Amino acid sequence: MNCLLCNAHLPVRLKIRDLVMLRPLAQPTLCEQCRARFIQIDPTHACPGCSRPQEHTRLCPECTAWQHQYGWHLHHQALYTYNDAMKEYVHCYKFAGDYRLRVVFQSVLEARIRRIAADVVVPIPVTRTTMATRGFNQVLGMLGGVVVTPALRHCATDKVAQSHKTRQERLQTPQPFELVDPMMVRGKRVLLVDDIYTTGRTLYHAADLLKAAQCCELTSLSLAR
Ligand SMILES: [Zn+2]
Ligand SMILES: [Zn+2]
Repeated sequence: MNCLLCNAHLPVRLKIRDLVMLRPLAQPTLCEQCRARFIQIDPTHACPGCSRPQEHTRLCPECTAWQHQYGWHLHHQALYTYNDAMKEYVHCYKFAGDYRLRVVFQSVLEARIRRIAADVVVPIPVTRTTMATRGFNQVLGMLGGVVVTPALRHCATDKVAQSHKTRQERLQTPQPFELVDPMMVRGKRVLLVDDIYTTGRTLYHAADLLKAAQCCELTSLSLAR
């Protein structure tokens, strides 16, 4: 096995426990150096609305603005900061389309999803254009074996990708989603999953529809913030 990011050889470390339990070996995907470049967000030093790292746990100004706009705010969890290492990873996986990289954070995401009590996991969908050019939904790829409920679909004909917009343009993006069927989420505890929390605009649009469909609780999760 080689590191998926720098191609360094990965030594397989056998643990007695694995041998005794006859468990399949957990395959490492990154070398120690690459792994160390990703910084996990400590929820005790982050905004409870969006996971932005900060000294206190009061709502940050951005979440306070969302609270004013919607009358509620998200309870978003992000696993890692969107630092240079994460930007490089996202570039290679999502924009250069290296599908092998979907496995890098799968087990961390799966573990966090197991800890969040949700009845259904709803991934943020990608546009038909993205699907045709990239060939995969990066969120679904990262979720690996997690059972998902595709309760949302893209309906917008927005020609400009979110990644090419300024912060102001992102915030003004109109509702791009529609519900496939409200019964998929009605009365359910929903976990909404995206790859990156940037302005929150995409997740608030999605959450607004899920709340209108009367889901009973809503949490959201992203790989990075
Ligand atoms: Zn490496
Ligand atoms: Zn916040």
